[in-house]
Amino acid sequence: MSDTFQMKPNADRRREQHRCTCGARFEVGHHGDPLLTTVTVEVKCPACGKPHTIPVPRGTEKDLLVELAAGPEPETGGSG
Ligand SMILES: [Zn+2]
Repeated sequence: MSDTFQMKPNADRRREQHRCTCGARFEVGHHGDPLLTTVTVEVKCPACGKPHTIPVPRGTEKDLLVELAAGPEPETGGSG
């Protein structure tokens, strides 16, 4: 039964961090090579569902991992 957890490929999944206007940060992971042609895809913010259009390597648009970025909010020095 634990074999089902071995299905994930071990290849490095690139993660690109994006920020939503709702204040949430989320990461989009893919297995693509960023040197390849990119296409734009629409992903939804995991926090509020707002759509974001982002570029990803062609062919990876159906294998994206979108998840909230964990960790504390980095200080940007802006006003609240
Ligand atoms: Zn959001």
